[in-house]
Amino acid sequence: MSENPIEIVNLRKEYGRFTAVNDLNLTIKKNSFTGLLGPNGAGKSTTLKILTHLINATSGEAYLNGIDVTKDPKRALQDVGTVIETPEFYPYLTPRETFRYVGELIGMNREQISAETQSILEKVKMTEWQDKRLGTFSKGMRQRIALGQALLDDPRIIILDEPTSGLDPRGMAEIREVLKNLRNDSKDLTIVMSSHILPEVQDLCDRIAFINHGTLLMDDDISAFESTSGARNVIAKVDGLPTDDMISAIDSLDYVISAERLGNDISINIGSDASLRSRLYKDLAEMDMKVYSLTEEDSLEETYLNLIKESR
Ligand code: ADP
Ligand code: MG
Repeated sequence: MSENPIEIVNLRKEYGRFTAVNDLNLTIKKNSFTGLLGPNGAGKSTTLKILTHLINATSGEAYLNGIDVTKDPKRALQDVGTVIETPEFYPYLTPRETFRYVGELIGMNREQISAETQSILEKVKMTEWQDKRLGTFSKGMRQRIALGQALLDDPRIIILDEPTSGLDPRGMAEIREVLKNLRNDSKDLTIVMSSHILPEVQDLCDRIAFINHGTLLMDDDISAFESTSGARNVIAKVDGLPTDDMISAIDSLDYVISAERLGNDISINIGSDASLRSRLYKDLAEMDMKVYSLTEEDSLEETYLNLIKESR
């Protein structure tokens, strides 16, 4: 097929009359860390479950390293580590025993498993827990073990479905740190992670694929969304709700391109000239509008919200 580690072609999944994945086309670039971003129900898990052969597609193809997982799952998944949903491990096994169990399942020999176990335990920061039973672990610790077993046999592709979901803030931060280190330690590694949390994707990923209703809406480098050039809107938060009078007063300032209501805030377009910001600040103060915050709109967040809105 191609050089791309993952290639999804016209992938479709129907549940009765409901279409969860709607002729999805997506290419994952080699050595990227791609965030599959979309709101709940977008079809992320369904897509990743087909990709990892946990469920069958209704139609379409999904290639891993050029091999169609719908036709030859064993070979397609040979060089792929996965964490889909928090896996249930045996509570009476320790991390080391769990890795041995999983390693043998995927056809590794004992020497190879023990050789990798220490470094994986370090990577997922579980060394000091290696001989404790999983039954006593927090959800975050179990998730780090899940991540660890995905690293067995040193895969070149890692597929993670919402790896921080259901964790407390500390657990989330730990998983994110492990993922960051993974990225930094190996450039020859393609990671795909689904998430509904935009800041998480921004923090970790270099590529972003937005999906909603089972369809790809946008697919690009994160930097393409975050470019600082070009106009960004300024968001003014005022005490109480913005009135029409306020909005038209702002709109009539000569350097303001447009002003409009955005929820309970006012979104003001002043073009890309940064010096106009302080002028706007001063003018708003003089208009006595009780502005308590003036921030630049996050262009990626705006794109995300607009895409969700438009695809409703
Ligand atoms: P995400 O992971 O992006 O939150 P999912 O892939 O889990 O979304 O689900 C996509 C849509 O498919 C949702 O509307 C969900 O309710 C539906 N869905 C998922 N699994 C099933 C199933 N086994 N039977 C029926 N509908 C399902
Ligand atoms: Mg999901």
